[in-house]
Amino acid sequence: MKDISLYIHIPFCKSKCWYCDFPSFCGKDNLMDSYMEALGKEIDAKVLQYNIRTIFIGGGTPTYLPLKMLEDLKAHIKKLNLTPNVEFTVECNPGTLDKEKLELLKDMGVNRLSIGLQAYNDSLLKEIGRIHNVDEFLKNYELARSIGFENINIDLMFALPNQTSELWKESLIKVAKLNPEHISAYSLILEEDTRFYDLNNKGTLNLPEEHVERGMYESLLSILKDFGYNQYEISNFSKKGRECRHNMVYWSMDEYIGVGSSSASYIESIRYKNVESVEEYIQKINTNKETYKEKHKNLIKEDVEEFMFMGLRKTKGVKEKEFLDRFGKDIDSYYKDTINKYINVKLLKREDGYLKFTSEGIQLSNYVLADFLID
Ligand code: SF4
Repeated sequence: MKDISLYIHIPFCKSKCWYCDFPSFCGKDNLMDSYMEALGKEIDAKVLQYNIRTIFIGGGTPTYLPLKMLEDLKAHIKKLNLTPNVEFTVECNPGTLDKEKLELLKDMGVNRLSIGLQAYNDSLLKEIGRIHNVDEFLKNYELARSIGFENINIDLMFALPNQTSELWKESLIKVAKLNPEHISAYSLILEEDTRFYDLNNKGTLNLPEEHVERGMYESLLSILKDFGYNQYEISNFSKKGRECRHNMVYWSMDEYIGVGSSSASYIESIRYKNVESVEEYIQKINTNKETYKEKHKNLIKEDVEEFMFMGLRKTKGVKEKEFLDRFGKDIDSYYKDTINKYINVKLLKREDGYLKFTSEGIQLSNYVLADFLID
C-alpha cells in the first residue's frame, strides 16, 4: 500500500472574515448534514487504499461542525490505515471550540491543533471580521493544553489595517510567551472578492506602508528567534522537531490526496481539483459522478517549476541530489543562468548540497521565484 498524506476540507464558517478568499461559506449550515454524508462516502471510496502519513482537516472551520457530525467523521477516520506516527492536525477557530469538541478530537486521534488567532488585540480582531476575542482564544488554548494537546500551532497575520509595528511586536511576544510548538505568520494579501478588496478600492483601508511591512517581517524573524523558534519556511516557525509534517509534504512535492469540495490532490504527477460548489459536490457524490473539475497530468517542466517554487520556500532549500534523482538532470541544466544571477547578488546561495535563499533573498522571494518559470 502506498504512503500518502490526506487533506479533508470542511467548507463552513460561522461568518466570513474580511480578508478571506478561501473556499469557505457562511449561511450554508443547512447543507452541513448532506455534505458530511457525501464527504464520508468520498473518504471511504478514495482513501482506504492508502497508508496515511499525515492528516490535515482544514477549511473553513472544521470545529464549527456540530458534535454529532464530528462523531460521524470520526467513524470514517477510524477506518483509515494510519502509519504508527501519523501527524493529525485539525484547524480550529476560537469561538467554535468547547471541551466536548476538543475531547472528541483527541479521541479521534488528533495530535496537533492549528488555532487561528490572527492578532492578539481585540480591536484589530474586530476590524478584520473575526468572530472571537483574545480572551476566548486564551480560554480555548488553556483548555486544549489541559485536555492533553501537546502540539499546537497558532496562526498570526501582519500588515493588517491600523496595525502598527508596536502592536505587531506585542502580538508576537504575547503569543511566543504562551510557548506553542509552532507559529505561522502571514502578511495580509488583498484578494479579489473580499470585503477588504472593496474597501481598499474605495480608499478606506489604512494599510501599513511597504517599508513598515518589511520591518514587521524582520521583527517576526528576530522575536521568534529570541524565543527559541526555528524558521523552517518563509512564514513558518517551530520548536525543535515540531515542523508541520503535513505542510512539508506540499513544499517537498510529495503525494497527497484531498477530499471534500475544493480540495486538491497530487498523485503520480497528476493534479486533481474537486468542484468548489458545496451543492455541486454533494450532488456529484450522490449520483456517483466524478468530483474533479480539473485533472491535469503535469509536464516534466511543470513538475520542475513546482518543485523549485515549493522547495525554495523551505529555509533549508532544495536538495540538489534530490532534484537530480527526481528529474534525471542536474539543477543547472535547467537553471544555471538564473541561479548564478541570484547568487551574484547574494539572494541565493549553495550550501552543503542545497540551493537556498539568503536572508536578504527570503525578503524578495516572490520576485526571485518568478524567475524560475521555464519559458
Ligand atoms: S475562519 Fe478562516 S476560512 Fe473562515 S472566513 Fe475566516 S479566514 Fe476564512
